[in-house]
Amino acid sequence: MSLRYASLGSGSSGNALVIETRCATQTTRLLLDCGFSVRETEKRLARLELTGNDIDAILVTHEHDDHIGGVAKFARKFGTPLYMSRGTYVSVLNHSHSCAKLNVQFCVDNQPFHIKDIQVRPYTVPHDAREPLQFTFHSQTVQLGVVTDIGHVTPHVINALKASHGLVLEYNYDAQMMAQSTKYPPSLKQRITGRYGHLDNLDSQHLLKQLIHANLHHVHAAHISTNNNDVNKVQTLLNAALNPSQVAFTVACQDEGFDWFWVQDGARNIDATQ
Ligand SMILES: [Zn+2]
Ligand SMILES: [Zn+2]
Repeated sequence: MSLRYASLGSGSSGNALVIETRCATQTTRLLLDCGFSVRETEKRLARLELTGNDIDAILVTHEHDDHIGGVAKFARKFGTPLYMSRGTYVSVLNHSHSCAKLNVQFCVDNQPFHIKDIQVRPYTVPHDAREPLQFTFHSQTVQLGVVTDIGHVTPHVINALKASHGLVLEYNYDAQMMAQSTKYPPSLKQRITGRYGHLDNLDSQHLLKQLIHANLHHVHAAHISTNNNDVNKVQTLLNAALNPSQVAFTVACQDEGFDWFWVQDGARNIDATQ
């Protein structure tokens, strides 16, 4: 069994990540969030040679538009089961994104469950949504950890992510660029930079440094603000944190996301010799 993942795009205009395992008898393919329209999601899936019918389930982290925008319509079109917290479900009941009458399974912090071959572990994060969850994905001995949309780092977050072999990690904004921005009203700045908003580059860097271990192979910076961040700054930070340990990294962008990456286990120096 092997696990791989690809991003359909990441940022405040839409997020979606595909996670896949294959074995001789079956393929399991999950979508984490669907912040794009159905048509756009299908277009982006086609880049990976997938269609909506290839997705076994959609997991939803929280009710913000960039995560839930296409979820209900996609599920209605393809009959896809949905997984989310009860709070996320309730928060969109009287909304155009309502998931009422769809096949919805509720997830709870710290209660792992299986979707076919993938074990999913939800964990609670501090973010200004009703009951936000982030997830780690497990197949046999490998773990993919995902964290975006958190206002500050808690011990619970570190605990959930610390054994990850692959990481998708928010680098949302540069604090100085945000402070100097004239595009955002003070209330929005306060929301984003608050304890239940998003991580700035240095918060993310501090978190990343706590997650580096001998079996971490790849880090993807994600949910990068197009207005208040600079990809070059993020790459410089990733390079500083990861280059000494020879951990590979990439940056997920809004339009392209990133192509398939395999999650590997074992120590990094083992696959360096392959
Ligand atoms: Zn978001
Ligand atoms: Zn959010």
